[in-house]
Amino acid sequence: MIVGIVGLGLIGGSLGLELRSQGYRVLGVSRQAATCERAMARGAVDGAAVDYGILASADLVFLCPPIGAIPATLTQLLPHLQPQAILTDVGSVKASIVEAIAPHWPRFIGGHPMAGTADQGIEAAHLGLFRDAPYILTPTATTPPDCVEAVAEVVQSLGSHLYTCSPTEHDQAVAAISHLPVFVSAALIASCDQEPNPKVRELAQQFASSGFRDTSRVGGGNPELGRMMAQYNATALGRSLRAYRDRLDHLITQLEQQNWDHLEAFLTATAAARPAYVAPHPPPSPPTDQPSPTGGSL
Ligand code: NAP
Repeated sequence: MIVGIVGLGLIGGSLGLELRSQGYRVLGVSRQAATCERAMARGAVDGAAVDYGILASADLVFLCPPIGAIPATLTQLLPHLQPQAILTDVGSVKASIVEAIAPHWPRFIGGHPMAGTADQGIEAAHLGLFRDAPYILTPTATTPPDCVEAVAEVVQSLGSHLYTCSPTEHDQAVAAISHLPVFVSAALIASCDQEPNPKVRELAQQFASSGFRDTSRVGGGNPELGRMMAQYNATALGRSLRAYRDRLDHLITQLEQQNWDHLEAFLTATAAARPAYVAPHPPPSPPTDQPSPTGGSL
């Protein structure tokens, strides 16, 4: 199988390194010629160019540019694809991407590797990025089953744990555990920083230790990434933020009513719920049937 990769950055370059190590022939396209040369020098691709014609023989193409660049890359890519080629992407949101691509290329299935680092670009690419990380595929009712099977097989060769769900389910789950925490953490920093008494604010800055470091980390990260989450996952993020606001309102009411037993019970319940999110997950069961287009793990 010949695999194409568009966008030779952290994710695209790491995919290339991993797939070549598995024996796939990998061809790449990136915006800058210097990136293509670096990807070849690093062994992430067998060949790379800024011209999409290099992907004319690809059986499967991964779209790996920033989400905002996907429409432009798609326009350039489609005229070169062979009719049976399978297309997938790695974007961190799914519903808007699936809606934008599937009508133009029916042999498309959305995907999202839940793996990354704070660094970007081809220099940050490395082997093993996807190993033991969840990789979600989001087939719809119209996705051809052979496309799901082909991408699932390649994804499993990365050592990832494969899950399938609908694009909307994906976006709501990712909003809850990835996008909401960024904005909650940012609001935490902003509320500390809006302390009207300068002496208290200064003391807070001096007293802040490991707890504040943990809870403020994702809110103090890359603003462009946060904007991308809000812009491309607005509906699901809005839903999660409103649910969070409801919890805050509830806590304020309990506090004002001095309902200490209720607050303790609330914290007891959250302490019991947390391990289900942060404890190491067993890998999903191996496939027993065709991948479900509506949910479940493979
Ligand atoms: P990245 O390191 O910045 O890589 C993106 C690459 O795309 C850049 O190196 C750039 O290559 C290339 N590119 C930009 N515009 C392009 C265009 N118009 N045509 C062709 N190539 C173009 O970003 P990344 O972290 O790999 O993220 C890429 C995708 O993965 C995003 O859709 C993101 O949602 C998804 N994702 C990211 C993470 C994460 O943690 N980083 C995790 C999961 C999924 P040049 O150097 O040639 O300009």
